[in-house]
Amino acid sequence: MSGEAHGQQGQCLCGAVRFDALIAKQEFSACHCSMCRRWTGGVFLAVECESVELNERAPLGVYTSSEWGERCFCMACGTTVMWRSKDGAHSAVSLQAFDNPSEFTFASQIFVDEKPSSYSFSNTTRNMTGPEFIAMVTAGAQQ
Ligand SMILES: [Zn+2]
Ligand SMILES: [Zn+2]
Repeated sequence: MSGEAHGQQGQCLCGAVRFDALIAKQEFSACHCSMCRRWTGGVFLAVECESVELNERAPLGVYTSSEWGERCFCMACGTTVMWRSKDGAHSAVSLQAFDNPSEFTFASQIFVDEKPSSYSFSNTTRNMTGPEFIAMVTAGAQQ
């Protein structure tokens, strides 16, 4: 694969929120942190995007969940749309909101230290604990 980013489209359950995302790597990660599990009702499977363009007047709700991150959802149907860092450096869009989720490879799992012992994925992935992931994300931010 070349380093070129390509566009992928998706939408929420009701279709009021639609997006066009620019993606460098066709892969996704699973986040096992307690916030993502409460927020999504499952495990947050997300695609790191270089940019995310929303349709005009998308009813996007934004919930600030930490000092550095916010969670975006459709205010009409409640679909989990994306997590993004407040500085705009990271946008992680829900894999399941994309029109073609099977085009992405399961590459990594984060916050594995917060994963309940009651389930696990058998895929071979790169795994990171919460502290390791936060160190990686904040290292990229200029603050
Ligand atoms: Zn919706
Ligand atoms: Zn999480």
